[in-house]
Amino acid sequence: MGADLGGSNLRVALLDAEHRVVCRWRCAVKELAVEGVREALHRGVRAVAGSEAIQGVGVGVPGLVEPSTGTVRVAPNLVGLSGVALGPDLERDLGVPVRVENDVNAIAVGEWARGAGRGARAVLVITLGTGVGGGLILDGSLYRGPDGSAGEVGHMPLYPQGPRCACGARGCLEMYASATAVVRAAQERGVPAEGGALSVACAARSGHRAAREVLARAGRALGVAAAGLVNLLNLERIVVGGGLAGAWDLLEPHARRELERRAFSAPLERFRWVPWQLGDDAGVVGASILARESLAP
Ligand SMILES: [Zn+2]
Repeated sequence: MGADLGGSNLRVALLDAEHRVVCRWRCAVKELAVEGVREALHRGVRAVAGSEAIQGVGVGVPGLVEPSTGTVRVAPNLVGLSGVALGPDLERDLGVPVRVENDVNAIAVGEWARGAGRGARAVLVITLGTGVGGGLILDGSLYRGPDGSAGEVGHMPLYPQGPRCACGARGCLEMYASATAVVRAAQERGVPAEGGALSVACAARSGHRAAREVLARAGRALGVAAAGLVNLLNLERIVVGGGLAGAWDLLEPHARRELERRAFSAPLERFRWVPWQLGDDAGVVGASILARESLAP
């Protein structure tokens, strides 16, 4: 079973041996304290399990986690979870082995194994949502780094004089390419953005100049970041997911132009940008794959 705990929703799914989703469940978790989150997970697991015998559960959590102990070290958007030994707690609640992993790492594993990253050995999965998240597959496995913090592409410094980010630094990629940043920039330019980043995309599609410029700016920031990453890591693919992935066709020409200006030609020949394929299922698919991996003898 896979679970994906986002900042506003909890998704739980039952998957078969080939990691195809058999059954889905979802509920809102905004404003829930840690007890509420545990209770919701319990409810979700029961709801999708039915009479199936569950072998294990993988849970993606928006924060820095220690997969070996199942402890959430920091979860900026679900404050009550910071410092919680979520894995052991859930194992007690559910009576099966539980693997806890960072949510975007789980999405990256899902897209790499079953979606748009299939067949590649060096992939960055980037999610453009409330923030900008990343998960890195290198040499055919998830690269976590010694502290489990690798892949945080959203806080890659891009413009040293740029606006102050929530992390304390200036000009991070997230300040330009998250759905939040797109909405903020659109509102500053008088573009209607009540429906979120995709309504900015709608305005751009119907020819709104300022809306097009806001998305172009996000695309350029992604292209500059990608050039550094392609040169550094010889990435084969960047898989673009999250809420803003629905506007990828509008971002892509700008991202491509900046990338082609900066990246070396050898890695560039192989490189491709691709929108995610599993969408909202990516997290539960990846979490279940990771759970199965840690169950393997
Ligand atoms: Zn930052």
